[in-house]
Amino acid sequence: MTIRTLTHFVGGEHIEGTSGNFADVFNPSTGDVQARVPIASKEEVAEAIAVAEAAQPAWGATNPQRRARVLMRFLELIARDTDELARMISIEHGKTFEDAKGDIQRGVEVIEFALGAPHLLKGEYTTAAGTGIDVYSMRQPLGVVASITPFNFPAMIPLWKMGPALAAGNAVILKPSERDPSVPLRLGELLIEAGLPAGVCNVVNGGKDAVDALLNDDRIKAIGFVGSTPIAQYIYETAAANGKRAQCFGGAKNHMIVMPDADLDQVADALIGAGYGSAGERCMAISVAVPVGQQTAEALSAKLAQRVSELKVGPALDPLSDYGPVVTAEAKERVESYIQAGIDEGATLIADGRGYVVPGHEQGFYLGPTLFDNVTKDMKIYREEIFGPVLAILRAESYDEALALASDHEYGNGVAIFTRDGDTARDFTARVNVGMVGVNVPIPVPIAYYTFGGWKKSGFGDLNQHGTDAFRFYTKTKTVTSRWPSGIKEGASFVMPTM
Ligand code: NAD
Repeated sequence: MTIRTLTHFVGGEHIEGTSGNFADVFNPSTGDVQARVPIASKEEVAEAIAVAEAAQPAWGATNPQRRARVLMRFLELIARDTDELARMISIEHGKTFEDAKGDIQRGVEVIEFALGAPHLLKGEYTTAAGTGIDVYSMRQPLGVVASITPFNFPAMIPLWKMGPALAAGNAVILKPSERDPSVPLRLGELLIEAGLPAGVCNVVNGGKDAVDALLNDDRIKAIGFVGSTPIAQYIYETAAANGKRAQCFGGAKNHMIVMPDADLDQVADALIGAGYGSAGERCMAISVAVPVGQQTAEALSAKLAQRVSELKVGPALDPLSDYGPVVTAEAKERVESYIQAGIDEGATLIADGRGYVVPGHEQGFYLGPTLFDNVTKDMKIYREEIFGPVLAILRAESYDEALALASDHEYGNGVAIFTRDGDTARDFTARVNVGMVGVNVPIPVPIAYYTFGGWKKSGFGDLNQHGTDAFRFYTKTKTVTSRWPSGIKEGASFVMPTM
């Protein structure tokens, strides 16, 4: 099998890596290395920033409707190539083909929202704020912005970043995950085909050095990051210290509260999909089920044990697979070590996903579904994000205890409650200390025209992703106070002007 050598994509062209460093890109379904991705040096990053900086003024001066038209053509091209893109995701990430199409679609929805840029970028206007005085505001692009994205949504998250940033008139440096860079590179090509001027969107591959080069370069005005919490915190703090705007989204430990009145078959379906879909490698995956009351816990545990035993794990492109492999051998080992920790700490192991072999794909990075019961608050498998197909049942005695669990956990990305009682649901949504809440909805990823963002250690920064917040993040507001006619003569005034 030939191993492809990938490139950077700068100024509308594929640029070979010159640092001499490469990272392996695997096919997680087979365990084979299928490509090498160049790891950019800080000089290569600096060159890409120079290209973006040169291209940005003309793009920023293009009227927003024309910018939106480029994104409209981009959407048509993504629609044309969806199957090809989904296949690329499946063979680099390991998620199933249908799931990969969902990855693309959730990104497409944010580009659709960004087509509203002419409206979203409108300022405010007050006429006659004083005698002959009008006040108005305008939203202007920041300049060159950087997006640093994780492996688990190689289409969706780059699209969440690019759409609003480009629509608002910025130039972009996208630094995607080095584990699955092919789709981000392809999105860069499609933007050129859609008519985006060369240099306005650039894809630079790399790791920490490339990120540090972006963080330390004054020409980068904002950083949008998505990934694990320690890196999110590091990037947020460094960007802020360097005077940049930053929004950095991190890890998660999402709870699902199951009230005694919930329909347990519906709950079990929701938990199986949200816990094990995409091998649990979603920041909105449910990793903790919290049944309230002993009876609910017994019944739910039995139902989950049954459903877990029926799951099919296999190659990403096999239509019979419920979920595929995890992304790398390293990720597999990390999840396995958590399973061992759960056993060592005394949780009840109902299903053990270690040692799962898919015949014909013995080297693939597979993990069977793992289910723990009787997990407690102090256990590592409860406190930390595992990011794999591992679901923990933590039994609560009361609604208040369940509410406190989700609220007190250091992560605050998503949470769900399953109940048939409106009062309980309403109380929960008002009081729970988490950023995104589902009521009988297991994965409450907000639709594109609302905003996405976790609380506590799941998100650093003031503004969320997509929705109107994205346009606030990617623009700066200028406010103009003007007076006409200009001929009014009042003489010099030494007091603060007031209305
Ligand atoms: P990661 O933190 O390892 O990598 C994310 C990005 O940071 C990548 O582009 C990577 O190259 C870069 N990076 C890695 N190490 C770095 C370092 N030391 N310094 C600077 N940059 C570095 O995350 P991942 O494994 O790609 O993605 C999984 C994580 O992302 C999980 O924790 C998941 O919960 C989280 N995630 C969060 C959200 C959200 O919106 N909150 C969405 C998706 C994924």
